Amino acid sequence: MVVIMAPEATESDVEVIVEMVQGVGGKAFVSRGVSRTIVGLVGDVEEFGALNLRSRPGVLDVVRISVPYKLISREHHSARSVIEVGGVPIGPDHLTVIAGPCAVETPEQTLTAARMARAAGASLLRGGAFKPRTSPYAYQGLGEAGLKILADVRAETGLPVVTEVIDPAHVDMVASYADMLQVGTRNMQNFALLQAVGAATKPVLLKRGMSSTIQEWLMAAEYIAQRGNLDIVLCERGIRTFETATRNTLDISAVPVAQRLSHLPVIVDPSHSGGRRELVLPLTRAAIAAGADGLIIDIHPEPKMALCDGDQALVDSDLAEIARIGAELSALMGRVLTPAPDASPARVPSAL
Ligand code: PEP
Ligand code: MN
Repeated sequence: MVVIMAPEATESDVEVIVEMVQGVGGKAFVSRGVSRTIVGLVGDVEEFGALNLRSRPGVLDVVRISVPYKLISREHHSARSVIEVGGVPIGPDHLTVIAGPCAVETPEQTLTAARMARAAGASLLRGGAFKPRTSPYAYQGLGEAGLKILADVRAETGLPVVTEVIDPAHVDMVASYADMLQVGTRNMQNFALLQAVGAATKPVLLKRGMSSTIQEWLMAAEYIAQRGNLDIVLCERGIRTFETATRNTLDISAVPVAQRLSHLPVIVDPSHSGGRRELVLPLTRAAIAAGADGLIIDIHPEPKMALCDGDQALVDSDLAEIARIGAELSALMGRVLTPAPDASPARVPSAL
């Protein structure tokens, strides 16, 4: 059972609900999002019914939900959610592009990639400081030093930062630099990490596990929501199949399926799906046409020198085309390409 609080509900309205539920031996999990607060109830549904919670101040609705993912399901909230990342919206009226290097390598590389991201129509900057690599010998990222570079580049370019967190113990530290916390495909069922980002106050980008079903992906999102954070964006990034011609198989059907089942926005990663630069533009077109709410795209100033995933990075000559596709196809789909925030007036971009 889920209690949906009205937008004007106060903290004490929420507390009253929690106390009433606990009073009959139930558990109440409060989840807060940009536009609403939801209380998930666990316990005896008959007892909860007798509390007549619907008549309490601040309560908009009380619903019984049949699917196992409750807080993120569309059963209780038919309108699709808009998630804000540093003031940039991701949701049904927009196409929001996140772009940047796979990994933060140097300040110059990150700043150049951020400027390229802007030229490609991106409104958010991606870049990994903690890299979850398949090989322990591969580049693992700069750690906190990389986060500092991202924060400097944000100050310079105005682009809010999306970056991966791989360890529950790092969540507060990463959240102190980032505007959005990415949970990667390899960690989609790292339940301790999901719970830790669920307790954070920054939105979360949850990539689909490369071997996970859509239902498992939604249950992973429910872990985050159940710990209190409803600001979640789902990302389809390709799954493992028998096919070896691509790095992963982009499961384009996952976009409309997840959007029907959950109110959360769904974006697509055409870079990690295809794994090769020449596939990124076609997969981007497919994602927008399938109704994706956004894209996350790898860009690198010098892919041959990249320490991670150079083969799939877009280069200078691709930027105008990706910006054109973003603007024209999103208009065809009835969306607006999300504009990038203004560059910080405090700092005039230098010529690095
Ligand atoms: C990434 O975005 O850099 C990344 C590691 O992606 P994934 O988790 O989808 O492999
Ligand atoms: Mn990568």
